[in-house]
Amino acid sequence: MSHQADDLEQFMEGVRRRNPGEPEFHQAVHEVAMDIIPYIADKQVYKDLMILERMTEPDRIVTFRVVWEDDNGNIRVNRGFRVQQNNAIGPYKGGIRFHPTVTQSVLKFLAFEQVFKNSLTGLPMGGGKGGSDFNPKGKSDAEVMRFCQAFMTELSRHIGPDTDVPAGDIGVGAREVGYMFGQYKRLMNRFEGVLTGKALEFGGSRIRTEATGYGVVYMMDNMLRHHGESIEGKTCVVSGSGNVATFCAEKLIELGGKVVTLSDSGGFIHDPDGFTQEKLQWIMDLKNNRRGRIEEYVGEFGGTFHAGQRPWNVPCDLAFPCATQNEIELADAEALIKNGCRAISEGANMPSTPEAIHAIQAHRELLHAPSKAANAGGVGVSGLEMSQNSLRLQWTREEVDERLKGIIAGIHEQMVTYGTAADGHVDYFKGANIAGFNKVASAMIAYGVM
Ligand code: NDP
Repeated sequence: MSHQADDLEQFMEGVRRRNPGEPEFHQAVHEVAMDIIPYIADKQVYKDLMILERMTEPDRIVTFRVVWEDDNGNIRVNRGFRVQQNNAIGPYKGGIRFHPTVTQSVLKFLAFEQVFKNSLTGLPMGGGKGGSDFNPKGKSDAEVMRFCQAFMTELSRHIGPDTDVPAGDIGVGAREVGYMFGQYKRLMNRFEGVLTGKALEFGGSRIRTEATGYGVVYMMDNMLRHHGESIEGKTCVVSGSGNVATFCAEKLIELGGKVVTLSDSGGFIHDPDGFTQEKLQWIMDLKNNRRGRIEEYVGEFGGTFHAGQRPWNVPCDLAFPCATQNEIELADAEALIKNGCRAISEGANMPSTPEAIHAIQAHRELLHAPSKAANAGGVGVSGLEMSQNSLRLQWTREEVDERLKGIIAGIHEQMVTYGTAADGHVDYFKGANIAGFNKVASAMIAYGVM
């Protein structure tokens, strides 16, 4: 065991040396390496061929200048990125994030995670991620359009339906995908499935908008059923109020859960009566169309607003972090444990800090589905959107939803296969890491040294 701890430390030392000043990337790699290094300890071929070392080195990173003009005629300069991490099992695939906190480290962590996630879906997709430090908040539609066009003018050289297929993420929804797809089509004079998350009118898939949030709930459902329980009647705490959070809440309410919180970067709202579909529609309209703040809910429906806080102290049975990375810290994990929380399904990417994960894993009563598995429904349906684009047809809502449920059930099964201990306890993190790793590693071995 201590030999493996040494191997892990030595491996991480190399990662830190080659990627200085990238704490989010180090964190994501460490979370995976913790499980993979013991797993490959007796598998010499993986070690001889340096598979894990190769996986942590992106195939390439493109960074570029994005220049656009604001409504007052000022010239603005942002930085654009695309991290093409690994295309061993399919074209690079992963979202685009527009947020002031975007750095190369953040996008590298997301691209690295994406490789394992996409592998878990069972679909032929490699991993990538992109974005910009552009802040869409407070910008007019025309400004967002000009930025998206400038961003795609450069990005279009590096992507394509068989090369790299981006999608949305934080700050990139239907509006931004529309502007970017339109610009790609104009530049290349080709109508092809180069982005997913498109509107239905121009090649989108039914359920894509809902897929990540729904998938997070389907994963919770799979975990609970595996342990003889269900969502019905459970009190649920959700963070965020964007795409993932709102459709997670929608599906929870549909399945009989009582959702009592949502949040944004200003704080969280607590409605002890629980949200109804009507209240949720109002929130979706507030965030998507009026682009308002979550605290406005209290003036309309009551409940309380907690400025600058996250919802993890609110007693719950089930928790769904759906806002951003590292939003569950050690004290939050301890509060969830103290209040008797039964299970966590991660909607946001890497929402739990290493200390929080450690505390949760030590408390074996708490089931914990990692983001690379729990939020894979989004990219899963993106994969289905690519299939539909290639086939030049659109499946029904029911058909896509069934396939989404199948993808999530398949991921749950793989995690149980690789994560179940002798006493029956399922380590979902370990299961996801090993299952995601195996497929990509096999393909890399088949290609030889490159
Ligand atoms: P949205 O932009 O739609 O919503 C993000 C939400 O999180 C907003 O409520 C936002 O608040 C809040 N938020 C963002 N950054 C912070 C922060 N630093 N602190 C506190 N709150 C914050 O994004 P998505 O819902 O698409 O993405 C949410 C998470 O899910 C991300 O981790 C993303 O990577 C992950 N994800 C998304 C997928 C998708 O299909 N969209 C697929 C897989 C994972 P505010 O309104 O104040 O900005």
